[in-house]
Amino acid sequence: MEPKGFAIGGLFSQIERQKLSPPSVIVIGGGISGIAAARALSNASFRVTLLESRNRLGGRVHTDYSFGCPIDMGASWLHGVCNENSLAPLIRCLGLKLYRTSGDNSVLYDHDLESYALFGRDGHQVSQQLVIEVGETFERILKETVKVRDEHANDMSLQQAISIVLERHPHLRQEGLAYEVLQWYICRMEAWFAADVDTISLKNWDQEHVLTGGHGLMVQGYYPVIKALAEGLDIRLNHRVAKIIQRYNRVIVTVENGTTFVADAAIITVPLGVLKANTIKFEPELPEWKVSAISDLGVGNENKIALRFSTVFWPNVEVLGTVAPTSYACGYFLNLHKATGHPVLVYMAAGRFAYDIEKLSDEEAVKLVMAQLRKMLPDAAEPIQYLFSRWGTDPDSLGSYSCDLVGKPADLYERFCAPVDNLYFAGEAASVDHSGSVHGAYSSGIAAAEDCRRRLSLLHGISDLFQIVLREEMSTEVMVPLQISRM
Ligand SMILES: Cc1cc2nc3c(=O)[nH]c(=O)nc-3n(C[C@H](O)[C@H](O)[C@H](O)COP(=O)(O)OP(=O)(O)OC[C@H]3O[C@@H](n4cnc5c(N)ncnc54)[C@H](O)[C@@H]3O)c2cc1C
Repeated sequence: MEPKGFAIGGLFSQIERQKLSPPSVIVIGGGISGIAAARALSNASFRVTLLESRNRLGGRVHTDYSFGCPIDMGASWLHGVCNENSLAPLIRCLGLKLYRTSGDNSVLYDHDLESYALFGRDGHQVSQQLVIEVGETFERILKETVKVRDEHANDMSLQQAISIVLERHPHLRQEGLAYEVLQWYICRMEAWFAADVDTISLKNWDQEHVLTGGHGLMVQGYYPVIKALAEGLDIRLNHRVAKIIQRYNRVIVTVENGTTFVADAAIITVPLGVLKANTIKFEPELPEWKVSAISDLGVGNENKIALRFSTVFWPNVEVLGTVAPTSYACGYFLNLHKATGHPVLVYMAAGRFAYDIEKLSDEEAVKLVMAQLRKMLPDAAEPIQYLFSRWGTDPDSLGSYSCDLVGKPADLYERFCAPVDNLYFAGEAASVDHSGSVHGAYSSGIAAAEDCRRRLSLLHGISDLFQIVLREEMSTEVMVPLQISRM
C-alpha cells in the first residue's frame, strides 16, 4: 500500500506546490499570438500577466465599430477555410460566419475572378474575357519563373525573373490594355505579400504552406475571436514594454512609466517591425543569431481606407479594380456590401504605395481614393464616414506583416521563433509555415506557450498533468460546421 500512498501523496504535494506558487509568465503583446499564449498558460494553471502597449487588444486584428457595423482595418480573412486551420475550432465554437471569396489556388489568392469588375483608365469596364486571358498568361509567366529559379543558384526578385521569362517568351508579353491588366495582377500579388514585386524573393514566394478550403471573410469581424480568448486573463492595457532583463532564471520587464514586472519567463509577441526598431532594450543583449534573424526578415506594409456611403451605387461584385501602366498606380476596392450587407467599400494599398499613402492626411488620402472610384463610377457619392489605417508608421506595429526578402537565409523563421533561455518568441513572423496570417500567429502563440510550460514545469518539478488543453477543449465542438456563404 505504501508506495501507492506515497505516489498519491507525492502527487498531492506537487499539486499543492503548484497551487501555492505556480510558475509565472509575462506575455508581451496582446495580439492574437500573445492572447493565445496567455490563454494556454492560464489554462495550465500558470500565473500569467499580459502587457499590451495600446489601449485595446487585438494588435493587427482591429475590428472598428464606429460605422455601426464591424470593419476590420487589419486582418479580415481566414486563409484556409478547413478543419486543419488552427482557428477553425474557435470560429465554429463562436458561430462566426464566413463569406468565401475564393476557392483553392486562385491566381488572385483570396479572390476568384468571377466576381470582379476591372476598369480601364478611360473609365470603361475591361471585358471579362480579357481579364481571364491575361490571368491565364500571368499564371504561365509565374510557372516559367520556377524554371528560372531552378537554373540560378542565387536568389533574385520576382520582377527580375518575370523580365527573364518575357525576354525568352515574347508571346507572353502583353500590350496596351492587356499590359495594364497584367500590372493589376501584379498589384494583387503585391497586396498578398504586402511588398513590391521587385523585393519579393523568387526562391520563396511560392513556398508558403497554404491551407485548403479557400479564403473566407469574417463577416462579423475578427474581434469576437480575440474577445473570447482574452476572457478572464490578467491583461494590462497601456503598458508599453521598454526593457527586458534576464537574471538568475527570472525575467524583469519594465514598462515605459517605470513599473516593473518579474516572472519566471516571458513570451515576446510584439511585431517584427517593433523588434527591428530596437525600442525594447534587452539585457543582456540578444545573441547575434537572433539579432540577424530580426534584421534579415522583411516587413511589408498594407493599408486600408474604409468608406461608408449612405446608399449603394456600385455594381454587385466583390471587387472593383482600376488598371494602370504600373502596378503602383493600379487600385482596388473590396465591396463589403456583398459579404455583409453594409454600404461600405474598402480600398487597399500595399508595398511602397502603402507607405506613401501614410504621408497624406486622412482627408487627402480619402480624396485620392475617391478620385480612383470616380474614374470607374463618375457619379460616386461622397462617403459619410471613413477610416484610414497607418500600419507602417504606427509605433505598435511598424509594418503589416513579415515577408521574404531577396537572398536571405532559409532558416530565418526558425531562428526568429527559437527561445533565448527563458525568453520565448511568438507572433506571425515566428510562424514557420503560416507567417503573415492570424492562424499562423495563433499557432505560434500556442507553440511558444507549450515550450515555456515544459521548461518551467521541469524547473519547478511539476508533473505533466497540466498540459496545454486549448485545442483539445475546443475540438469537442467539431460537430458544429463552419458557417460559410457566398452570395
Ligand atoms: C492590413 C492588414 C491586413 C491583413 N489581412 C489578413 C487577413 O486577411 N488574414 C490573415 O490571416 N492575416 C491578415 N493580416 C495579418 C495578421 O493581422 C497578423 O499576422 C496577425 O494579426 C499578427 O498577430 P500577432 O499576435 O503576431 O501580432 P500583433 O497583432 O501585432 O500583436 C502584437 C501586439 O504587441 C503590442 N505591442 C507592440 N509593442 C509593444 C510593446 N513595446 N509593449 C507591449 N506591447 C507591444 C501591439 O500593440 C500588439 O497588440 C493582415 C494584417 C494587416 C496589417
